[in-house]
Amino acid sequence: MFDLTDRVAIITGANTGIGQAIAVGLSDAGARVALVGRSPMNETRGMLDGDSLEVTADLSSMDAIPCIVSSVLDWAGQIDILVNNAGIIRRADAIDFTEEDWDAVMDINLKNLFFLSQAVARHMLPRGRGKIVNIASLLSFQGGIRVPSYTASKSGVAGLTRLLACEWAGQGVNVNAVAPGYIATNNTVALRQDPVRNRAIRDRIPAGDWGRPEQIAGAVVFLASDAAEYVNGVVLPVDGGWLAR
Ligand code: NAP
Repeated sequence: MFDLTDRVAIITGANTGIGQAIAVGLSDAGARVALVGRSPMNETRGMLDGDSLEVTADLSSMDAIPCIVSSVLDWAGQIDILVNNAGIIRRADAIDFTEEDWDAVMDINLKNLFFLSQAVARHMLPRGRGKIVNIASLLSFQGGIRVPSYTASKSGVAGLTRLLACEWAGQGVNVNAVAPGYIATNNTVALRQDPVRNRAIRDRIPAGDWGRPEQIAGAVVFLASDAAEYVNGVVLPVDGGWLAR
């Protein structure tokens, strides 16, 4: 049920962190993986045994979307899985937060996630099959602090995941999300380097420590596989128990 042999998967932001681990996880499950992002994918490609494609694309703009879809279709002839992982965060007090920091985060984390999903779904829906997995956040459920555009975007990702699931579940396309807890990546360097915040976060996690990117990959493989055929519109926390506390 978890075998992805010959499935074609797009993973955005696959050069590092959670996206890299997801690419390795999907590849290990048998998928052919298209690694999409603005930075070179050499490190990730070196970790893969299976077939892969590198697509250079800056996801801060919608301009890249047609090229991503056509490159993958030229390469593989089909798209079975889309993992919307690329994302950024900007930190400042809400009272000082700038329009630039609002727009930059919303464009990558929410707007282009939606329009890439739409472009890929235009290929999936006529085939009557496909899996879209969005990377959400604990801030899809909670408020957070000093990250207004990030919280807005990830709350939006949860809502869009449910909306797209409602529209497309009956046409064979499953849309779900994974909400990582506190995972050790570039995205969280600032928090991990702050001794007070680092200690507070670790003390609050029932599992006792930061998560690792590969711990997110397992949940994505599940949601991308036949095992999740009747799973639609879920935002699955993978958080060491953070939300349970
Ligand atoms: P990361 O190491 O900073 O990775 C973010 C990825 O997004 C990188 O591949 C990055 O590419 C890519 N990206 C950013 N801006 C881009 C752009 N304009 N065009 C194309 N790609 C772009 O962070 P991460 O922790 O692995 O984050 C992956 C996802 O998980 C994000 O959606 C994040 O919000 C989410 N998440 C992370 C955590 C956590 O604790 N780490 C928790 C909850 C949710 P570059 O390397 O080129 O910048």
